[in-house]
Amino acid sequence: MSHETKALFIIFGATGDLAHRKLYPAIYELYKKGYLSKSFAVIGTARREWSDDYFQEVVRDSIADGIESEEHAKEFSTHFRYQSHNVKDTAHYVTLKKLADELDEEYGLEGNRIFYLSMSPSFFGTITSHLKAQSLATDEGFNRVVIEKPFGTDFESSKELNDEINSSFAEDQLYRIDHYLGKEMVQNILALRFSNPLLENSWNKETIANFQVTLSEDLGVEERGEYYDKSGALRDMVQNHVLQVVGMLTMNRPDSFTPEDVRREKLAIIESLKTPVVTQDETTDFVRGQYSDSSDQKVKAYRNEDKVDPESLTETFVAGQITIDTDEWRDVPVYVRTGKRMAEKLSRIDIVFKETTSDLFNDSPSTLTIFINPDQGVELVINNKKIGPGMDLEPMKLASLRSKETLKNSPEAYEKLILDVLNGDETHFAHWGEVAESWKYVDQIRQTWDSFEDHIPFYPALSVGPAEANQLLERNGHHWVYTAE
Ligand code: NAD
Repeated sequence: MSHETKALFIIFGATGDLAHRKLYPAIYELYKKGYLSKSFAVIGTARREWSDDYFQEVVRDSIADGIESEEHAKEFSTHFRYQSHNVKDTAHYVTLKKLADELDEEYGLEGNRIFYLSMSPSFFGTITSHLKAQSLATDEGFNRVVIEKPFGTDFESSKELNDEINSSFAEDQLYRIDHYLGKEMVQNILALRFSNPLLENSWNKETIANFQVTLSEDLGVEERGEYYDKSGALRDMVQNHVLQVVGMLTMNRPDSFTPEDVRREKLAIIESLKTPVVTQDETTDFVRGQYSDSSDQKVKAYRNEDKVDPESLTETFVAGQITIDTDEWRDVPVYVRTGKRMAEKLSRIDIVFKETTSDLFNDSPSTLTIFINPDQGVELVINNKKIGPGMDLEPMKLASLRSKETLKNSPEAYEKLILDVLNGDETHFAHWGEVAESWKYVDQIRQTWDSFEDHIPFYPALSVGPAEANQLLERNGHHWVYTAE
């Protein structure tokens, strides 16, 4: 049975897209499943002047797809209050504290507070210092701060941001969201690897030829052109999600699933990444691209997107060969790629095993695929004897994908992560050490790219990316398992 935690959520950026699309539905699911019942309240704050009634209407609208009944949704929404707020105005924090204390009393929340910063990171330092100065953080209960990405734009800025936040809140009060870490199949990597000796004993340089991580989106930049044009795929995806997945794939077995043990092992991987070679020829470990019009001209080029510089050199695609500089993994390349306006929306990991060393067979490499999104499941492709005379082989697929029904009932990443925050479990959140090391890694690539002449390879929208991404593997005699065909 679910364990209930009492808490007051204060959501900064309550009128924003993320709150509407992800946070309210996730909190409602937790309410539906009994993790939150009578003893919780939510204060939404943002610049706009909204009434409580209007805010509650917005919340009901955001959860409309999954409600048990109109009445249940209504009861849920009565726990929500709205306070218009300018993050820079001290007086507003005083009003906010008054409302927080009232709700604490009304719902018996014992001073437990979750501050959810769903706003531009440029405000994080200001907000956290006011939370401390105006005593919104309580002495009686827990105080946890949830932080959205991006956490800085490079190592320097992320360190500055971290120091600012740390002057009010300690590391163990901070929950840096990386929603990939909340995904079922990303968490499942550790279960698959460490609960099956069959896989655990094969997870090494003797058996694995290479890892391939593909996180691809079919959408373009939508309304986020202004942010994206300054960020690009390397900062937006590689620094966080891609490197976290690489850590999960290659970390040593943790002693336990406590945050300390899991994060220590993951950090050990990120710390041992070899400095990538970044050049403009085939010796490079990282390549980039930007989408042009689709071949049927129906989808416009990145440079023609709203709020994007028409001469932008921002990469909407990155592919790379990552080397983990340890005895175990030095000779096993980890190939990664991520991009927008790709042929399909999907996240998957392909593990390519080595071929046999004997001359008995003309075998092809076995592969294990972990489907993360939208499919969830595992597929193993192994060699199998063809029916008939001789010993010719053909690939055999052993696949198990979770059914649509199972997926419909399985919790969203945000639901799981918010539950972790309620329970004080930081295992699936990025620790400062991981963030810092990841930035140092991608900064080396970014700085070299910035020093190159004004040039970026293009790929047609709705394709698998530029040809350079294939050459990256071909130089080692490898190829991408997933080719979108
Ligand atoms: P948004 O632009 O839709 O919302 C921003 C919110 O901040 C609004 O509620 C706005 O009123 C409030 N705000 C802005 N300036 C303010 C001020 N001076 N005082 C008080 N309130 C102010 O942004 P979003 O898409 O909801 O994203 C929120 C955060 O989550 C950002 O850090 C973003 O990078 C991150 N994020 C968003 C998504 C997504 O899918 N939307 C995904 C990952 C991360």
